[in-house]
Amino acid sequence: MSSTSKIFAPSAKRRRTKIICTLGPVSTSFEMVSRLARVGMNCARLNFSHGSLEDHLKSIKTVRRVSDDLGRFIAVMQDLPGPKIRVGQIPSGKMLLKRGQIVSLIPDGEALEKDAIPVHQLNLAKYVPLGALVFLADGTIRLEAIGKTSSQLKCRCLNSGTLLSGKGINVPKIQKSFHSFTDLDKQYLKFGLENRVDLVAISFVRSAQDMENVRKFVNSNSSDPPWIISKIERREAVENAFTVIKASDAVMVARGDLGVENPMEQVPVMQKMIISECNREAKPVITATQMLESMVGNPRPTRAETTDVANAVFDGTDALMLSEETAVGSYPIECVKVLDRVARVAEKWIQSESSTESNGGRRKDKGLSQATSQLASQTGSKFIVCSTKNGTLAKQIARERPIAEIIAFTKSRSIANRLEIVRDLFPLVTAEETSPEASMKALEASISKIILRNHIANSGDKIVFARNNVEYQVDGKKSELLLSLEVQ
Ligand code: PEP
Repeated sequence: MSSTSKIFAPSAKRRRTKIICTLGPVSTSFEMVSRLARVGMNCARLNFSHGSLEDHLKSIKTVRRVSDDLGRFIAVMQDLPGPKIRVGQIPSGKMLLKRGQIVSLIPDGEALEKDAIPVHQLNLAKYVPLGALVFLADGTIRLEAIGKTSSQLKCRCLNSGTLLSGKGINVPKIQKSFHSFTDLDKQYLKFGLENRVDLVAISFVRSAQDMENVRKFVNSNSSDPPWIISKIERREAVENAFTVIKASDAVMVARGDLGVENPMEQVPVMQKMIISECNREAKPVITATQMLESMVGNPRPTRAETTDVANAVFDGTDALMLSEETAVGSYPIECVKVLDRVARVAEKWIQSESSTESNGGRRKDKGLSQATSQLASQTGSKFIVCSTKNGTLAKQIARERPIAEIIAFTKSRSIANRLEIVRDLFPLVTAEETSPEASMKALEASISKIILRNHIANSGDKIVFARNNVEYQVDGKKSELLLSLEVQ
């Protein structure tokens, strides 16, 4: 292919967010790679945790041929396995584990007794403390370490599931920090450099130093070094995120291991934090794993999945990555089509939002709510208190997502019920008149009492009172009080 692409769709037809497909048993043929590229694949990922070097070489050649054939650039990413501990070869390929069952994790190669799970890491028993949780297959099966000998780790299954050969093992409390760039990685990377992969992803990075070690190796073995991608999945990498990102050419939010090595509920925040830092540093960032997990076996995604994909685009991701969906799933082409469609709609929305913003915003009623929220934050106020007849002012202040909590007083129980679904907002019912005509001072005095009596605020806490639509007289003319704020 010449250095310029033959096919370059007009701007209106181009998707901005890029799509990475992991190639695997269902997707390495020329025909499949070609179809994936036609529906939108921008980069093919080769997962070196699986497959032989021979298989990978074939895939690299296939992607290059498809790229030439279509006149399109397609990147090749080599994803190195790193120190990931894996299940060895289970004789029948899979093993059914039952909740409460006792199993032994034993070094791969030892004679397999009943209830034994072969493991690639020979010294696992040495490094896992008793009581630690052991996660198999991206955390879908959980075990608890209950005993050990020098080579075997005895565990109780905490839930049932089917374990397949080659699945990953995570032990967040493991008492050993394995180097992220292993001898096997070096061997594979040499192969990748020889075959001119465009990107190399490093698994289980801990620090910027890990990235520097890889860079040294790459620079001394290649005259045209590929970009080096750090996969952020370990706790240490999250803690060192700023320096790891600086030391990387690009970054992958590897949510599979990230969500096992760290509490699952922290993954969304970590994703946002990593993407926004990458955006600041101009480092391309990939959001990976379980984007369309249900489509491994179904032709349509769940609503939650399409929302997750769109949210990654809203967060500012450069690329969306498919793993099992395109490597072993039944609907690889449909998966790429779904990512393509969802990303396009999300991008359109971002553009319409930013054009609305640059036109000065579409709301004319932002004055009071914005000023209230800003005043509360500038004065370090803990609460914004507003009286509201039908909830409108309360909702407008909540729209600003203030740091302070909003206490909304209303006379109406049913309005209070409805306000229960509004973020940042806590309704209270008062017998006091909350209509705009009510005496503001009297109302505020009474509300202050209620707040103190109910221990909502302590004496000395700063509170912003906000009230809207109070009609009053100015120079004999009726006018509208747009802003009535007071810090107490
Ligand atoms: C991940 O953990 O999300 C990931 C992409 O890495 P791997 O597929 O190698 O487990």
